[in-house]
Amino acid sequence: MRLSVIGTGYLGATHAAAMAELGHDVVGIDVDETKVARLAAGEVPFYEPGLPELLGKHVTSGRLTFGTSIAAAADAELHFVCVGTPQKPGEFAADLQYVDAAFAALADIAAPGTVAVGKSTVPVGTASRVAALLRARGVELVWNPEFLREGFAVEDTLRPDRIVIGADAEEPRRVLERCYEPIVAAGTPVVHTDFPTAELVKVAANSFLATKISFINAMAEICEVVGADVVKLAEAIGHDERIGHKFLRAGLGFGGGCLPKDIRAFMARAGELGVDQAVAFLKNVDDINLRRRARMVDLARETLDGSLAGRRAGILGAAFKPDSDDIRDSPALDVAYAIQRAGAAVWVYDPEAMGNAKETHPTLAYAPTALEACRDADIVLHLTEWPEFRVLHPDDLAAVVRSKNIIDGRNVLDPEQWRAAGWHFRALGRP
Ligand code: NAD
Repeated sequence: MRLSVIGTGYLGATHAAAMAELGHDVVGIDVDETKVARLAAGEVPFYEPGLPELLGKHVTSGRLTFGTSIAAAADAELHFVCVGTPQKPGEFAADLQYVDAAFAALADIAAPGTVAVGKSTVPVGTASRVAALLRARGVELVWNPEFLREGFAVEDTLRPDRIVIGADAEEPRRVLERCYEPIVAAGTPVVHTDFPTAELVKVAANSFLATKISFINAMAEICEVVGADVVKLAEAIGHDERIGHKFLRAGLGFGGGCLPKDIRAFMARAGELGVDQAVAFLKNVDDINLRRRARMVDLARETLDGSLAGRRAGILGAAFKPDSDDIRDSPALDVAYAIQRAGAAVWVYDPEAMGNAKETHPTLAYAPTALEACRDADIVLHLTEWPEFRVLHPDDLAAVVRSKNIIDGRNVLDPEQWRAAGWHFRALGRP
């Protein structure tokens, strides 16, 4: 099929390359000229394992092209809209200006009888509004929320857990299923819904995941007061199949371009709909999550006898999670910045996210390696659980720091090993 993908960020670039892999001819459209130039040259403008190979393969074969003009999408029979829906400045609601602009531009050029597919995460009610606009031009809409995880984006797109297709007519639904035919044929469950259910599935899933993380982090707060160990607690309750181990790791909490803004947008939309009480608990989920960042700073201050002023901190991690260079609402950078504001000199190292971090946090200092970031440090903070930090040897780090203080914000380092090497080791939610 001939497809267009409008908005080629983390979601759209991955989707475009994956659709080419399924055998389709794909044109990716974005308003960001620099991004388009890099993608057209076969270069992925962000870090995503496996994507450079897939994108390069299909740019070379000619099956995947990119452009800045929406006119290039005019002869596509299926149009995926993957533009961003960030949090509005100063409020919880989602900013729909990019979604509205993309669908308006599409309505102008899409041929009657073609189908538009909404993939962005939007407040419930958006799809019905967009469908009316498109239908006036003879274009049908389906809503097909995306569940990919950064770091596993290619795998999640080609082999998703499920496909959700929200529609109010049968024909456009069939067109999308035809596009996904190899994925469906592999046995992927397809859930057919109406528009509002499809929109809600996405925010409900993210709300559940955020709640699970904040639940175990709330337990960590209690553990810290009574001297209990949240890692053992999570291990024990996770053995119950009804609870499970996944997303039950206490630590610095969630961040990124999805979970925080999605739960906030959900609260805002529920308020507009007069059902804010139903998701009032999400405010607690958000607050618990943000309190972990503050706790990390307090723990650092405690470790350095009550003051960070004039001290030096080595920060391991800037991305909101490993295997990504995404720093949107990153807990690691939030903590690094707070430590600096408390008067410390802050040196940051991240394997992939330093380019992005330097743009948004230019006042922090950046080092080319983990050991360099920790040179002469009074304290080391482990804030993003990249595999290379897990295998850092306590003796190697001891050789460069000024004082052997480390706080594990992700609960993946082995306290026994670090303490045996003479380190003062602290972690969130552990004695
Ligand atoms: P992103 O910021 O990386 O990409 C959005 C892209 O849209 C940008 O490149 C931007 O230039 C482009 N854009 C904006 N307006 C445009 C227009 N009118 N025409 C063409 N391009 C335009 O964002 P993202 O992380 O890819 O997220 C996109 C959407 O997907 C969001 O709604 C997000 O919540 C959702 N989502 C993201 C992920 C993820 O892991 N990143 C997962 C699932 C869902």
